[in-house]
Amino acid sequence: MEKKELMYEGKAKKVFSTEDPSLYIQSFKDDATAFNAKKKGTIQNKGIVNNKISSILFQLVEKKGIPTHFVKQLNDRDMLVKKLEIIKVEVTIRNVVAGGMAKMLGLEEGIVLDSPVFEYHYKHDALDDPLINDYHAIAINLATKEELAYIEKTAFTINAMLKDFFAGLGIDLIDFKLEFGRYGDEILLGDEISPDTCRFWEKGTNRKLDKDRFRRDLGGIEETYQEMLAKVTSGAV
Ligand code: ADP
Ligand code: UDP
Repeated sequence: MEKKELMYEGKAKKVFSTEDPSLYIQSFKDDATAFNAKKKGTIQNKGIVNNKISSILFQLVEKKGIPTHFVKQLNDRDMLVKKLEIIKVEVTIRNVVAGGMAKMLGLEEGIVLDSPVFEYHYKHDALDDPLINDYHAIAINLATKEELAYIEKTAFTINAMLKDFFAGLGIDLIDFKLEFGRYGDEILLGDEISPDTCRFWEKGTNRKLDKDRFRRDLGGIEETYQEMLAKVTSGAV
């Protein structure tokens, strides 16, 4: 499948149309941004790593019976996906306090939560993706109550599955963000699941294995992305 027209260029990916009106190609870039693009940089080969990790994880999710937009990995940077009408809520699940939750509630990073925390953020760059609840999402027509019920149930299933998978690799899944979209009558998991969109800490040491290395200038960024690719690849065989 060939790229036809650039439909959208985001912070981390380009999205192209194809000759099939129901399919898009996501092309993963090395561009890295943080703090809503106030910090910008490049992580060498990040696009390749995120495409490969996402491809593996989407296939794992599919195996659990959850439909995703993933069709196939086309090459190092490109993924063929079903064209979605993206629902403008970012769905976050947290198992351990970090990032935005630590800041918002004045908590230490690293506190293990007794039960996972589920959040919606309005996907709206100009507003810095504000935290909202289901009432906001329904009232401003981002999604229906039924859609949100499906999204919540599915996100928790994905959390349990990913937590298990990463535990087997000696990694704690701290938190992550998902996006869903409409495809005909179905809701599919979209976007990516990668070190850009998840927090991963090495078990025992709490060494950060994700985009926090870039956000916080921790060094060893490229190497850490490669390390995550090697681990995820080894876990998937
Ligand atoms: P951002 O828009 O936040 O800068 P990216 O650079 O990752 O993010 O751009 C990818 C864009 O494509 C995102 O806006 C995402 O919501 C959207 N997207 C992801 N999967 C699909 C899909 N299957 N169909 C249509 N759009 C998608
Ligand atoms: N996240 C993301 N995109 C965003 C915001 C957050 O992928 O626009 C991911 C982030 O990598 C982390 C989780 O969602 O795994 C929770 O992020 P948080 O709300 O703590 O935000 P941040 O620390 O980025 O401000």
